[in-house]
Amino acid sequence: MDTWLSILVQTPAHAALGSMLTYRSPQPLPPGTLVRVPLGQREMLGIVWADAAAPEQQALQADKIRSVVGTLEGIAPLSDHWRQLIQFCAQYYQRSAGEVALAALPPQLRDLSTVQIERRLRRNQKQTQKRQQPAEPAPPSGLAAPNTADADRPDLTAAQTAALDAIQSQPGPFLLFGATGSGKTEVYLRAVQTLLERTPQAQALVMVPEINLTPQLEARFLARFAHHHGPHAVVSMHSGMTAAQRLNSWLAAHCGEARIVLGTRMAVFASLPRLQLIVVDEEHDPSYKSSEGARYSARDLAIYRARLEGAKVILGSATPSLESWHHSRPADQGGRYLRLHMDQRIGAATDGVGHTIQATHATATATNSARSPAYQGLPLVRRVDMNNQPRNTVISAPLLQAMRERVARGEQCMVFLNRRGYAPVLHCAACGWKSECPHCSAFRVFHKFDRTLRCHHCGFTERVMPACPTCGNPDIAPLGRGTEQLEEHLGELLADVRRPHSVSAEAPQGEPLRIARIDADSTRAKGALTSQLAAVHSGEVDILVGTQMIAKGHDFRRITLVAAINPDNALFASDFRAPERLFSLLMQAAGRSGRDATLSANSEVWIQTFQPAHPLYAALKVHDYPRFAEEQLRQRAQAGMPPFSAQALVRAEARTQEVAQQFLEMARAAVASDMAHWPGWDAVLQHITVYPAVPMSMQRIANVERAQMLVESPSRAALQQFLQGWHSLLHATRPACKGLIRWAVDVDPLAI
Ligand code: ADP
Ligand code: ZN
Ligand code: ZN
Repeated sequence: MDTWLSILVQTPAHAALGSMLTYRSPQPLPPGTLVRVPLGQREMLGIVWADAAAPEQQALQADKIRSVVGTLEGIAPLSDHWRQLIQFCAQYYQRSAGEVALAALPPQLRDLSTVQIERRLRRNQKQTQKRQQPAEPAPPSGLAAPNTADADRPDLTAAQTAALDAIQSQPGPFLLFGATGSGKTEVYLRAVQTLLERTPQAQALVMVPEINLTPQLEARFLARFAHHHGPHAVVSMHSGMTAAQRLNSWLAAHCGEARIVLGTRMAVFASLPRLQLIVVDEEHDPSYKSSEGARYSARDLAIYRARLEGAKVILGSATPSLESWHHSRPADQGGRYLRLHMDQRIGAATDGVGHTIQATHATATATNSARSPAYQGLPLVRRVDMNNQPRNTVISAPLLQAMRERVARGEQCMVFLNRRGYAPVLHCAACGWKSECPHCSAFRVFHKFDRTLRCHHCGFTERVMPACPTCGNPDIAPLGRGTEQLEEHLGELLADVRRPHSVSAEAPQGEPLRIARIDADSTRAKGALTSQLAAVHSGEVDILVGTQMIAKGHDFRRITLVAAINPDNALFASDFRAPERLFSLLMQAAGRSGRDATLSANSEVWIQTFQPAHPLYAALKVHDYPRFAEEQLRQRAQAGMPPFSAQALVRAEARTQEVAQQFLEMARAAVASDMAHWPGWDAVLQHITVYPAVPMSMQRIANVERAQMLVESPSRAALQQFLQGWHSLLHATRPACKGLIRWAVDVDPLAI
């Protein structure tokens, strides 16, 4: 007798066909089994989700129901928890379960034939068996002697010990709030170590926001765990890996051989049958939110998943998201996370000498005595009031002087500006022409090195014209500046400075300074970022110029001065999260300075600003994230913004702005005309505000017009319920809007 199965397949997000289809199978298959099924002319990967009702009960004809082609032998069914995670994600973020589930599996599972996959599995199995043979001479070659791992383990500080005690004894979730360099990673390592030692087969998931950060972390985890658990106990998962690597990591995690999975946001979906600990490092980072397909937040899913699996979860950050900060308020005020505070940098206590050195080169207003013990070892923050500088100053005189002194001593400086290219606009003073992109509502950026105008939104690129295209004026000029110009400018300003100790036969005057730039342009070639970072680490570079790319995570030991050239824009941005981002970016950047304990006492962060008295900078000056957070949360509470309300955005893209807005407005009207009459929905709608449709701030990209509509509610539950109900109305609206290209819902959007 055949049985009937509900099988999840990948169908287009809004296809009329749901993603759960009924198939026939000669034998029962447990939920979670990976199968191949026919769909139309194709054969595709499917996941058995549940037993299905008999065809007659579903108004289907039994003889029209197709059979499962086969199962992926050798791959155990995905766990119930994994399926619940997928189901939750799909429902919460308003996508089909098939799309979420299939996107969460490594692409090769979909693309390889059953035979190819089986071959791969057999090969992996053989390797595993070989590795487990007891006769094998102790640690695999290339690794240091067995006990170095233990020697590498530093004695924990009191703060680290307290944090770990809490993690062992309390249920969590935990928010590990600790300055950069306060030893958070060491806490993760210990928490994982304790888990692996105590619980045979337990698995841990450690997430970082960026691919670039995984190699560093992987090296640290391997150095710590390879000896006891073998080099295959640690695997990575991120989109920079080849499809074959991703499949191997996935299989290792799924079968339990990998004990630790390190990865970017996609790793939150890794199949980990014995998951007991999740770490989300830099939990505030916007990269944890997906910006396409199901726009999930890996951090939020990590919390959900931990609860589901009974695992512990640690969120770590020096500048937590205001959401997590709010959730970790004291329990008697409603907090649900336990906040663990580590407020000192490692090595900060021995900072006595720093004071005298500092005093000798005071160029700005504050003196070192302004540092309270709470942030000893953290860099001194200096604000340069640009109102007092000559007009059009790029690098103020005191900053330049400070940089000269640093590089003369063989220390490194990092200068960042959040704008790549040479100049954001080219401009003709005679007729007012500007280098607009013909396809987007944006200017094309001037890149001097290849003399192009490039649109950073649609990619449209042209050679720079010799004269103004409207009036023929040959004198078109750059307006504003980007990293490329900053690099050039610094080269000119510091042309007379020689590298210390560089006098030689070839360079009798000494060598000029080395200035490097790291941004999306300089790192386009594969491997370019790695080699550029290596150059910074090895000390070949004196001054590093870049975008926020360089502010994140990298452990630059010899950088003692970090400067933000023009960070003010974010203070006045329309996005209510802009100040939060700026603060965390500047704190991160500050964290780059003085990572080396012997230099940290002496390190500085410079902020060039027209708003020196702004509370954000005042809080930054004293490294006081809690103060900044309280102030921001107070404002958000007053304005009813997240985390005091829940939001969703509906975005629409169309050939014209009218159609994009029309779609949204029709869906909005349906709330009053339809939903309001649904029995029992009053109670939900009462808590929902649907705002009018508006053009997005980037209104047109690649000739596609974009509009959005905000939905808000003081209650997350009410918003969720509303969105579930509204979904069918949005679908129903679509056919009426000719020229609509796509629409999507973004739940808990990060950018408004
Ligand atoms: P974070 O993750 O908070 O930036 P890390 O864990 O990377 O901090 O620690 C910063 C530096 O201090 C690292 O070089 C690390 O090896 C070292 N470190 C961490 N904990 C200790 C400790 N207890 N004793 C000595 N050094 C430590
Ligand atoms: Zn002109
Ligand atoms: Zn464009």
